[in-house]
Amino acid sequence: MRTVVMSEMTWPEYEQALKDNPVVFIPTGAVEQHGPHLPMGVDYMLPMAIARDVAENVGGIVAAPVTYGYKSMPRSGGGPFFPGSTGVDGHTLSMVVRDIIRELVRHGVRRICVLDGNYENLWFLNEGIDLAMREVGDKGVRVMCLQHWEFLTEETLNKIFPDGYPGIELEHAAVLETSLMQHYYPDTVLNDLLPDNKPAGAPCYDVWPARREWVPAEGSLVSAAAATAEKGAVMAQQYREDMSAAIEKEFYGSDS
Ligand code: ZN
Repeated sequence: MRTVVMSEMTWPEYEQALKDNPVVFIPTGAVEQHGPHLPMGVDYMLPMAIARDVAENVGGIVAAPVTYGYKSMPRSGGGPFFPGSTGVDGHTLSMVVRDIIRELVRHGVRRICVLDGNYENLWFLNEGIDLAMREVGDKGVRVMCLQHWEFLTEETLNKIFPDGYPGIELEHAAVLETSLMQHYYPDTVLNDLLPDNKPAGAPCYDVWPARREWVPAEGSLVSAAAATAEKGAVMAQQYREDMSAAIEKEFYGSDS
């Protein structure tokens, strides 16, 4: 195969590739601020790169990404304050995912993996998948849905965060995402602008209208200063190996 990326294929190439009943990845994410040092497409760019890596390993295809995602929340994405954080309604995201799955299935896809990079998306993705499953009926379609950081083991997290993992909500535009971007997309990271701010000081609840003072001025919810491409490579290797293993288990294992 010339490429595993669907939108880089011609239709005859795609038709040919589908004959092997490959896993088709749907990368999902968001367009939102990621601090002063990262591009605003991080949340779909990372799933795109990870999916390409895993697809090459398991003989899969990467569908075009769902670039827009659910709205940035102050405690996990910095909220709506930053120019460029461009969210869609949860219902819209669910409908887009439902429609894409239905269209893939119409052309013969039976194995689908939704690979997400935006914390706030999860339940709306689940909803879209569930509605699609209801719609496509009994065609033997199987769908997996995952958020990439869930694959990081304690052992890996100890390597990446020797002083302790702050948790995924605070890890917005910080060490985890910055290191992965330095690994997959080194040219897009403004390394001399890595923010070194204190952790966001929000309480354990949300309010509307959102409070600007809950979010650090930089937009990163905790320091990104310890990010390195080497850490990104460690995580990327784990993703490639463990996601491939999960794909094998769910789509090609004896109980699938
Ligand atoms: Zn992000």
